[in-house]
Formats: sequence, structure tokens, C-alpha cells
Amino acid sequence: MKIKEAFIRDILLQQWRGDISFSRMVELINEEMKTLKKIEIEPVFVEFIPDTLKQDIVYISKEYKTAIHLCLCGCGNLAVTPLNKDGWNLIEKDDKVSFTPSILNTNCPNRYHYIITDNVANVV
Ligand SMILES: [Zn+2]
Repeated sequence: MKIKEAFIRDILLQQWRGDISFSRMVELINEEMKTLKKIEIEPVFVEFIPDTLKQDIVYISKEYKTAIHLCLCGCGNLAVTPLNKDGWNLIEKDDKVSFTPSILNTNCPNRYHYIITDNVANVV
């Protein structure tokens, strides 16, 4: 959600500066609203990753410094995100989680790619 807000703020700024016309600004904002699909996820903190995973739940094991979820497109492939300096950064804020960098599921037939920010996956 923050990413979209930042993007829109940037477009508004460009129009204010006179870099783009008003109609171009409206066009760009509309395009952005269409391309980003949002999926709400639920973080569940566990010690061990369960055998059966539910869709749209991100299982996070701090003990084993890893997070796992089923690809958000519904293809059933696992998305494994190790939480370490070579992997992903987990940010917790008010019961909500964010992951950086973005998650690209290379096994996914739809090549799903998203950024999880405050429990919302923005598909890009
Ligand atoms: Zn997928």
C-alpha cells in the first residue's frame, strides 16, 4: 500500500512541477490502480513449519530464521524465504509484517512476483 502511495505522490509531484499534463497524470494513476493486485496475508508465528499449509498464510519461524508460504497465485508451489542477511528482512510493526526485498516465485508457472508490506502483498 505504501508503495502505491509513494508512486501516486510522485505522479502528483510530476504534474505539479509541470513535467506531465493533468490528463497524463490521471492516465498514469489509473494504470497503476489496474496493474497492482492486492492480496491480504496473515502472518503466523510457529516454531516448526506445519505439514499442511493454508493459502494466504505466511508461516514464520524465528527459531529457524525462515518463513514459508504457498505461492499467493494459488499454484501450490512453496515460497521459501530465509530470514538472514543473504535472504529476506522481516519487519514487524503493530502485528503486521513486511518483507524486503520482493518475492519472486521462480517455480511458479505464473512467475508471481510481489512485495509484502503491512500484511498486504502487492503483485507487480
Ligand atoms: Zn504461483
